[in-house]
Amino acid sequence: MKRKVILLRDASSHQVEPPAAAPSPLPAASWGAHTPPLVDGLGRPLRDLRISVTDRCNFRCSYCMPKEVFDGHQFLPHASLLSFEEIARTARVFVQLGVRKLRLTGGEPLLRRQVEQLIEPLAALQTPDGRPVDIALTTNGSVLARKAAALKSAGLRRVTVSLDALDDAVFQRMNDVGFPVAEVLDGIDTALAVGLGPVKVNMVVKRGTNDQEILPLAGHLRDRYGDQIRLRFIEYMDVGATNGWRMDEVLPSTEVRTLIQSRWPLVPLEAETRGETAERWRYADGRGEVGFISSVTRAFCRGCNRIRLSTEGRLYTCLFGSQGHDLRGLLRSGADDAQLAERIHQVWQGRTDRYSELRGSTEASVATQPRIEMHYIGG
Ligand code: SAM
Ligand code: SF4
Ligand code: SF4
Repeated sequence: MKRKVILLRDASSHQVEPPAAAPSPLPAASWGAHTPPLVDGLGRPLRDLRISVTDRCNFRCSYCMPKEVFDGHQFLPHASLLSFEEIARTARVFVQLGVRKLRLTGGEPLLRRQVEQLIEPLAALQTPDGRPVDIALTTNGSVLARKAAALKSAGLRRVTVSLDALDDAVFQRMNDVGFPVAEVLDGIDTALAVGLGPVKVNMVVKRGTNDQEILPLAGHLRDRYGDQIRLRFIEYMDVGATNGWRMDEVLPSTEVRTLIQSRWPLVPLEAETRGETAERWRYADGRGEVGFISSVTRAFCRGCNRIRLSTEGRLYTCLFGSQGHDLRGLLRSGADDAQLAERIHQVWQGRTDRYSELRGSTEASVATQPRIEMHYIGG
C-alpha cells in the first residue's frame, strides 16, 4: 500500500515572496534580556543549529525516503527555499544567541547548486567572544569526490558521510537506486586528502537488513584509516511517517557494541562536549574510535541542545516535531535582526520536547501526532 507523505507547512509556503532584505549589523545592546545561551522550558541551552538546504535526494534509503512513497513526490519549488543570504543571516543571529555548531544537511545537501557559496559566509561567523563556529556537513557521499576541494576552500572544516554497508550489493539495496559503494569510498578518500578529516561515518543499522555489515565496515575503516575515521552506529529511528518503522528492526547499540568488542576490545571515552549524542569508545589497540547513537534504547533528550531549520525556513525544536515555527515570513517581511532574535527566543523558551524519552509511554499525544519527515528537516 502506498503510504502518504505528510509535510506540515503553511498553506502559504509555495507562494513566491520578495527577496530578503540585506543583513543589518547586529546591535549588541538590543539583545538586552536575552543574554546567550538561551535556555528552553527544561533548562537546556541552545547550542546546535541544523540547516536543511534541500528536501531533494538522489538516494531512496528505505528508512528515510522509501522509493514507493518518494518516487513522483512533489519536492519544494525553488522559490520556497530559503536563499543563501537568508540562511546566512539566520545563522548569524543564532550564533549571537549562543549557537556554537552549524550542520548543513537535507535531503542531500551537495545537490543544492553551489552550496559552497553558502559555506563561505557561515565559515566566517564568529561567536560573540571571537571564536570560530564549528561548521560541518552531512552527506550521502555520492558527489563528495567531485565537491570536496571546493567545500574545503570555502571554509568547511569537517564532513560526516553516511555509509550503511561495505558490500556493494547490500549498499545498493540500502540506497535503493543502485548507487555503487566504491564512489562513496572514493568521496571519503578525497575528503581526507583535501583536509576535511577526521571524517565521521554514520551507519544506520537495521536488524535483518545490514547488521551483517557491522564488522566488515568497522574492520575496513579501522584498518585503512585508523583515527582518521570516526564510525558512528545509529539506531534505526521512527522518524517521519513513511518508513514503516518497527521496533523489532532496531538493533540496540549495546548489541552492536558487544559484537565489535568480541573482535576488537574497546575502552570507553569521556564525552568531549555537553549534549553529545554518541557514546564514544576507542579501540584498545589505538586504531581509532567508534560511537553509538542510541536514540531509541537510551534517549538523550535531557541534553538535547539542537534546533532545526527546514528547507523552507521553519524551525523545529525536535526531530519528531509536527508543527514547525515559520521564520521565513519574518525574514521576508523586513524584520530586523532583533525581531528575528526575539522570535527565536520565544520558540526556544517554549520548548519542552523529549519525544525519545516518552516513546513507548502511555502519553497518547506522543504516539499519535503526525511527524515531519527527516529529509525535510534534516538529520
Ligand atoms: N543525505 C544526507 C545523508 O544521508 O547523510 C544528509 C541527510 S540524512 C536525513 C542525515 C542522517 O540521518 C543520515 O546519516 C541518515 O543515515 C540518518 N537517518 C535518516 N533516516 C533515519 C532513520 N530513520 N533512523 C536513523 N537515522 C536516519
Ligand atoms: Fe537521502 Fe540521506 Fe535520506 Fe538517504 S538518509 S534518503 S541519502 S536524505
Ligand atoms: Fe532532541 Fe527530540 Fe531527539 Fe529528544 S527526541 S533528543 S528532544 S530531537
